[in-house]
Amino acid sequence: MKKDHIPYRQIHLDFHTSPEIPAVGARFDADEFTATLKRAHVESINLFAKCHHGMYYYPTAIGTQHPALNGFDLFGAQVEACREAGIRPVAYTCVSWNEDWAKRHPEWLMVTYDGTLGNKLPFETGYYKWNTICFNNPEYRKVLKTELEEIWRRYHPAGFWIDIVTGHECVCPVCKAEMLASGMDPTDRNQVIRHDRIAETAFCRDIYEFLKDMNSELDVYFNSHPYALDDATDAEASSVTKRQYFTFLDIESLPSDKWGYSHFPIAAAYVQKYPQEIAMMNGKFHMSWGDFGSLRNEKALEYECFRALAWGAKVCVGDQLHPCGRLDPVVYDRIGKVFASIEAKEPWLHGTRPVAEIGAFIASSRSLNSDRPACIEEGVYRVLQELHQPFHFLNMRDSLEGYRLLILPDHFVPDAELAARLDRFVEGGGKLLLTGDAGVDPERGEYVLRCVRAKYRGESPFSVRYIRATGDAFRGLPKIDHVLYERGCVLERGEGETVAARIVDPYFERGYERFCSHRQTPPTLEETEQPAILFGDGYAILSSPLFTDYLMNGYQAHRELIRCCIEHLLPRPLIVTDLPAISEVTLRRSEDAHIVHILNYVLIKKSKRIETIEDEHTALDRTLRVRLDHAPSSACAVPGGEPLAFRYEDGYAVIELPKVSGHTMIEIG
Ligand SMILES: [Zn+2]
Repeated sequence: MKKDHIPYRQIHLDFHTSPEIPAVGARFDADEFTATLKRAHVESINLFAKCHHGMYYYPTAIGTQHPALNGFDLFGAQVEACREAGIRPVAYTCVSWNEDWAKRHPEWLMVTYDGTLGNKLPFETGYYKWNTICFNNPEYRKVLKTELEEIWRRYHPAGFWIDIVTGHECVCPVCKAEMLASGMDPTDRNQVIRHDRIAETAFCRDIYEFLKDMNSELDVYFNSHPYALDDATDAEASSVTKRQYFTFLDIESLPSDKWGYSHFPIAAAYVQKYPQEIAMMNGKFHMSWGDFGSLRNEKALEYECFRALAWGAKVCVGDQLHPCGRLDPVVYDRIGKVFASIEAKEPWLHGTRPVAEIGAFIASSRSLNSDRPACIEEGVYRVLQELHQPFHFLNMRDSLEGYRLLILPDHFVPDAELAARLDRFVEGGGKLLLTGDAGVDPERGEYVLRCVRAKYRGESPFSVRYIRATGDAFRGLPKIDHVLYERGCVLERGEGETVAARIVDPYFERGYERFCSHRQTPPTLEETEQPAILFGDGYAILSSPLFTDYLMNGYQAHRELIRCCIEHLLPRPLIVTDLPAISEVTLRRSEDAHIVHILNYVLIKKSKRIETIEDEHTALDRTLRVRLDHAPSSACAVPGGEPLAFRYEDGYAVIELPKVSGHTMIEIG
C-alpha cells in the first residue's frame, strides 16, 4: 500500500484573539494539550503564529505579540509539545486580514473598485469582516517574508498554512500601477477581477519559492481558492496555473456557512483527478468559524468527514481554541470518535484513485471570481450524484482520455481547440450529451462541433414549454407533457438524427393582458415538430437547460430525462443500483481492488438560516452492480470485513446490500 503524504486526521486550531482579552494562554498545559489531541487520534495540527487581529503568539521581532501573553511563547510551546508527542505541527499565518498592521499602515489597505478602504466600511460590526491589506503591496510583502523566515528559523514547522490570499477587485495604488504597466485597464471591472487572480498567483509563486528555498521539504498551502472552477483558457488567471505553487489542496467548506453542502463535492469532482493530494476542511461549530459555545451535530461531523474520504480527501476539522489556551475535551471526544473511525478506514483509503467514465465540462468561468459554485455545476453535481454516476468536472484543457461520455451542460461552448478534440473523441467512439444551447456559438448561432447535425434556430419565444417523451427510451417516466421551467432553444433535426421527444408549446406566452390561471400557460394538445430530445450518431441533445432547471426547481422528471439520455448513450454504466437518490455513491480503486463508498445521511434545511444533518438514513435489501472486466474474488464491508453475498453477472459484480446506513465502504477484490 502506497501511503499518502498528507495525514488524514488534522485539526485547524483557529485562535483569532482580540488584544483586549486578558490572560491569554494562562491555562495552556503542554501535556494536557497533546494528551487531548492524542486521545482524539489527531495526527497533524495547524497552530497560530499570527491571527486576523494581527497579534503574534510568539515573541516576534517585527510585529505585535499579543499583550496578554506577557511575553509567553504560546506558539513555540504548542509546536514543541506537538513535535514531542508525534503530532505534525503546521504554522498558520494570514495575509490580507490583519487589523494591527492595517492600523499601523493604512496606506497598505486594499481599495476595492467602489472605493472602500480595506474592504470594510468604517463602522462595520458584522461577522467575518476584517480590515484587508493588499497582498500585492511590496512593503507588506517584505514584512510577511521576514515573518515567515522568523517562524521557520525558530520553530521548523512541517509546513505553512497561509490564509486569506484573495483580491477584492483591488485598485490600490500598487495594483492600479501594475495594471497600467501591463496594459490592463483599471477602469474596466472585469479586468480588475482578472488582475486579482493574476496577482494572487504571483503572490503564491513568490512565497512558495521563498519558502521552498528555505526548505524544500516544507508543505505549503495558500487559502486562495486553488480549486476554483474555471475553463483554463486564460492560463495566466486560471487556478490551473495557481495550483503549481501548492504542495496540497485544502478545500475550506463549512456546510452550514455560505459554502453549503454542495460546495465541497463540486470542488472535489474537479481536482480529485489530479495527482495533488486534497483535504476537506469543515469545522466543529454548529454554524461556522468563531461560533463559540457550539458543537457540530455528531452526524453532521461524521457525514462531512466520511464524505471527504469518499471523494479521496483528507480531513481537517476546524476548531477555535479558547483564549485561555485549553482545548475543550468535549469537543475532542466528539472529533475523536470520527477520527478513530477514519484511522480504522485508512488502509482502504491510502493510494486510491477515483474511477469515472463521465466528464462534465465547467460551464461558467464566472466561478473564477467566487468560492461559490456556479449554478450549472451545482445542477450537474446534483443530477449525477442522485443518479449514482461517478464523474469528474473538466476544464477545456483537461485530458479526455478514459472518458466514455462527456457532458456539455446548458450554455457551455467549447473553444475551437476543444471542439476539434471533441469531434475526434466522437470519431473514436466517445459519446456527448448536450443540454440547452451548449455547443452553439452565440455569435454565429451554429454548432461548433462538426459531428452535430442539428440546426440551431434560436432561443424559444416561450419562457416555459413542455416535453412529450413517450418513446421506449423513456420507460418509467409518467406519460404527461412535462413542464420545462427554464427557457430552452428551438432546434431542427439534422440528417441522420432521431427525434426522441418533441416540444409541446403553451397556447401563448404569459403577459400582462393575456394570461391563464396562476402560473405558466397550459400546453396545447398537439406536439410541435420541434425536437425536445435528439439522438444523433454519438450524441444526444436536450433542447432545454435541464441541469439548471433541476437545480432551481428539483423536478424529478427532469433528472429522469437526463438518466434516460445517459442510458441511451452509455447502456452499460460503471454503477447500476436501486439505492435511493439520497444515497451517495463514489467509486475508487487501489492497485488490486475497487472500493465503493456509500453515504446514507439525511441532509435537511433545519432552520431558516442553515442546512445541517442530524440523522442517518437506512436503506434495506438493495443491490449494487459495479462493472468489472473480471469476476471478483471477494466482496466485503470494510474495515469490519463482514462478507457480502456477491455474484458475477453480465460483466457486473452484483452485490447484495441487506442494510446500509451512515458510511459504508465495500471492498471488491
Ligand atoms: Zn492592491
